Amino acid sequence: MIEQKITILGSGTSQGIPVIGCHCASCSSTDSKDKRFRTSALIQVNNIRILIDAGPDLRMQLLTNRIEEIDAVLFTHEHQDHTAGLDDLRPIILKQKKGMPLWCSSQVQKRLEEQYSYTIKNANYPGVPKFQYCNFEEDHFEIEGVKIVRIHAKHGELDVSGFRIGAISYLTDLNYISDEELEKVKGSSLLILGCLRRESHYSHFNLEEAIELGRKSRVPRILFTHLSHHFEVQSQLTRALPKGIELAYDGQIIEIEY
Ligand SMILES: [Zn+2]
Ligand SMILES: [Zn+2]
Ligand SMILES: [Zn+2]
Repeated sequence: MIEQKITILGSGTSQGIPVIGCHCASCSSTDSKDKRFRTSALIQVNNIRILIDAGPDLRMQLLTNRIEEIDAVLFTHEHQDHTAGLDDLRPIILKQKKGMPLWCSSQVQKRLEEQYSYTIKNANYPGVPKFQYCNFEEDHFEIEGVKIVRIHAKHGELDVSGFRIGAISYLTDLNYISDEELEKVKGSSLLILGCLRRESHYSHFNLEEAIELGRKSRVPRILFTHLSHHFEVQSQLTRALPKGIELAYDGQIIEIEY
């Protein structure tokens, strides 16, 4: 029996909720479940902690959820709302006294090397974080003994990676996945799935498309993430969702044995 735990660190789209200066129903809501940091999650398998994405809210996400150790970071893609907080791992990297393994595609590595060029150019400057790039070479790989399957999807023109880790599949920022790749998701107990808004979008699933993909995946429990303020407040939207589909919320913890 393997014990697995996922913590939703953020469930909001690129501007988060509330959006600065917006006074719509979602942004004005006093319900804590309507406050959403940028999309990210921590998956723990036994004692290995794997962070998925490192967006601009990372510092507060780690503090709020009292996360003090991370063994590796997995990147879905290179957009700023998934990478802009990487420098905030410094205290953890300094404490662990080794480079942080960053698992990503070569395309994402290139962007991270540009964005964090000082970690290469000024690598010996005191306090500069040490990163250890690990490219996805195979779709099946292991991080400290934890088996991971990479899932390929499309986010508009961009290639993105989703992940199957044990009984959990994680797919965000996508508007297309082939049937072949969806096979990798089948048999999961939990699917975290990106769903932006009701209106269609050129690079994200809208509500209807995400519900359809959820059905096709046959995963019994699905949590929507990467939600935007264009949706109604969560208590209202929740009532409109089919059985087996919920909205993720920040700080949500789900434990699974498989
Ligand atoms: Zn995003
Ligand atoms: Zn708003
Ligand atoms: Zn994106």
